[in-house]
Amino acid sequence: MTNIIFTDKQAPALISNQTISKTNCPYCGVGCGIEATVENNKVIAVKGNALHPANLGRLCVKGSSLHETQGIENRILSPRVNGENVSWDEATSKVAKHFQDTIAQYGPDSVAFYLSGQLLTEDYYVANKLMKGFIGSANVDTNSRLCMATASTAHKRAFGEDVVAGCYDDLSAAEAIFIIGANPAYAHPIVYQRMIKAREENPTRKIVVIDPRKTATAKDADLYLAIKPGSDAYYYNGLLMYLAEQGKLDKDYIAEHCQGFEQTLQTAKSQFVDISAVAVACDIELSLLLESYQIFAQTDKVVTFFSQGINQSSTGVDKGNTIINCHLATGKIGREGAAAFSITGQPNAMGGREVGGLSTQLAAHLHFENPNEIDLVKRFWQSPNIASKQGLKAVDLFDAVDSGQIKAIWIMATNPVVSMPNANLVKRALKKCPMVVVSECYENTDTLDYADVILPASTWGEKHGSVTNSDRTISVHKSMLKAPGEAKNDWQIITDVAHKLGFKEAFNYQHPVDIFREHAALSGFENSHPYDENRAKNDIYRVFDISALANISASDYENFLPTKWPINAANPNGVKRIFTDGVFATKNEKANFVPIIAQLPKILPASHQVVMNSGRIRDQWHTMNRTGRVAKLMTHSNEPYIAVNANDAQRFQLADKQLAVLANLGAEYIGRVNITDEQRTGEIFVPIHWNDNFSASARVSALVNPITDELCGQPEFKHSPVSIKPFNAVWSGYLISAQTVNCPTSYWSKIQLEQGHKYLLSDKQELGNDETFLANLYPKIDDWLVLKDDQKNVLRIAGFIDNQLHCFFAASTDLSLKFNSRYIEGQLHKALPIKTRFELMSGIDSDGKDDVGDMICSCFQVGEKTIQEAIKSGHCKSVTSLGEKLKCGTNCGSCIPELKTFLLKN
Ligand code: SF4
Repeated sequence: MTNIIFTDKQAPALISNQTISKTNCPYCGVGCGIEATVENNKVIAVKGNALHPANLGRLCVKGSSLHETQGIENRILSPRVNGENVSWDEATSKVAKHFQDTIAQYGPDSVAFYLSGQLLTEDYYVANKLMKGFIGSANVDTNSRLCMATASTAHKRAFGEDVVAGCYDDLSAAEAIFIIGANPAYAHPIVYQRMIKAREENPTRKIVVIDPRKTATAKDADLYLAIKPGSDAYYYNGLLMYLAEQGKLDKDYIAEHCQGFEQTLQTAKSQFVDISAVAVACDIELSLLLESYQIFAQTDKVVTFFSQGINQSSTGVDKGNTIINCHLATGKIGREGAAAFSITGQPNAMGGREVGGLSTQLAAHLHFENPNEIDLVKRFWQSPNIASKQGLKAVDLFDAVDSGQIKAIWIMATNPVVSMPNANLVKRALKKCPMVVVSECYENTDTLDYADVILPASTWGEKHGSVTNSDRTISVHKSMLKAPGEAKNDWQIITDVAHKLGFKEAFNYQHPVDIFREHAALSGFENSHPYDENRAKNDIYRVFDISALANISASDYENFLPTKWPINAANPNGVKRIFTDGVFATKNEKANFVPIIAQLPKILPASHQVVMNSGRIRDQWHTMNRTGRVAKLMTHSNEPYIAVNANDAQRFQLADKQLAVLANLGAEYIGRVNITDEQRTGEIFVPIHWNDNFSASARVSALVNPITDELCGQPEFKHSPVSIKPFNAVWSGYLISAQTVNCPTSYWSKIQLEQGHKYLLSDKQELGNDETFLANLYPKIDDWLVLKDDQKNVLRIAGFIDNQLHCFFAASTDLSLKFNSRYIEGQLHKALPIKTRFELMSGIDSDGKDDVGDMICSCFQVGEKTIQEAIKSGHCKSVTSLGEKLKCGTNCGSCIPELKTFLLKN
């Protein structure tokens, strides 16, 4: 049937008890392939899979640390109902009974599932089928709503289907790359390195970065435009106008393959007297604007690479369409090196879209708007009760939980108490909800506090199934490890509940390949290309078609080589680029230009506020359950921070490296002030990762207004007006601890160490002069040392159990005092002689000798001071020579943008 090439059936054995298994990184949307070395049910090493097309052997620091995230510590090992361990049978019976009773009494729309881009496609497929096809509601949404719902809707409006036409190879082939609303140097490092490598090979290639924030990506750009936040659609409408004025349109392409151009151009023009008005609207110099427009107009192969800066907006769909409009207008689409490329945040955001995991989709790129599409899915699933209309989108869904409309919710593989906008409302809603079921791998997530039923799920290394990355590449995630305790795969848990709801026959899956085959068969069911001579009259064309895999054998599934969809009879080996023939998935096969009136964000800041932008940092992933366990990943950024411009620091009386408080919606965020020229005046940036498990008050989403894009419901995470003021601490310090503790201070932030934890502490309350402060935290300490250094104004306290150092605390009312605790961290758990005890107490943490500065290279633990000294010595004049001397930048490459910045400044 097909020519699909499969890998070896058996992974090569290394030594007797070691195997190498091919799998994928579970973090970002790049979807890197991994070779994992497994020994005794443990991954002992990972490296990039040189044959995987997404990464060609490279991994960033997060991916290359994956094996360090394992361990039974903090895993949920048994199902629980109301806090008590129960059997799987009891837990799933409880869930099924409650859902059944609720549906019987209040109807199918009284229940909901909230899923995640972390789930595998098979998990997603089963959950979506159960809710939409059998329970009869479309109340199944996903955290992908927070990430790429806008881009998905923009694709559908323009192309007729949610399709990313290009692929990663286009990033190497492009002559110019426009990066807008994205910081791939941090958020998608491996594709970013691909762009940089291509420019190194051919320096005439240009990288243009458009972003209000001077990110690591922006610092490495050939041209950087610090536009006003939210003005992206003005920029691209202006570009369309410029292309028309300069005679740079591809009129043949527009005439043959598109519709709606004139109206779109006139709409763009209606907002501007001339191009200089665009520069004013975007708040950038006209000369820079024109230089960038010229690059786009005069370059044949252009990729626009966009992500959350475009997506997380109240007009994100429109912004996506202004980008696509410019690519259609110049025919820069469906060709090598020419694409409007939306990169997803999560590892399987595209897989979720394939199965229809958003409440606004039905399944397999079929939708509710066309009754024939509902009928097709109904017949395929033999559905007794298929949903006939869209369900609630994430923000509306949790509002409905809050109002009592939804009375039972099942949350899988996500942490909405941390990640949803207005996150305190989500807390309140879940507290009130009669039944909250949470499928989760790790203890202590903020959402678990509200669960009535907790279902232990398997995680990376244990799961088996497929994912689709941002360029349509389907890979199979291999199961390499036995899940601990009673943890199960998500598809198994959902299937168990489906059986108890009475749907055994339709959910009779024994293995993920059974689900994958069905998913593949649905994608090809009554689906044929408009020019297929065998096309049946009622066929509904979808580009997403993987029907060539509908009969895949279990071993071929196991050894499946990464392949880009569509994968069907016409394209058995997959397809690199889509729309190469100019045939789109609309009714008349023409792409739609979409007329857009550009708009600024919905809520603008009051005079006492700044605009808060939120996003990812380099070494952490989402709510840190996994990456927060790896000591080296906590060294580059180790606590919540607030990046702020010097003008705003002065205006709001903020001091560098001191704490400040942000407030909105009755919620607060406390973070360390970082005064930087990376921010425009009036705008701040905060990381999204910290939560109640890692810091006193850093759930940034609690401050984000629940303002959404009307077309797709994606929240405006990138633009939240907030107030800002100093924290007014009276002392600050740190605590090194062999155990986790509940710090009673009004500010604390937890950092994972190789052995133990470090807490950064501050308070507005005075601190006493003895160990009373710590005694309540450590009742088992049998020996305290307390020393007050009046000269330096430092209080130091060490606690020992059986002569071994168990905790060490140091604090000062001098807030500018910089502690360096590296030496002391190394003494934890050790029996210390008198001499070492004396060293600890006498101020080794503040003598500055051991201070290597902020950690820049996480892989080899190289600090900023060490790098600066090497540069100043004159021996290191390039990234290569720094790597040769210090090793920094020679493994994952994530720190290379920062190394370049240091070199430039010297
Ligand atoms: Fe994982 Fe990094 Fe690759 Fe993203 S770029 S998939 S985080 S290794």
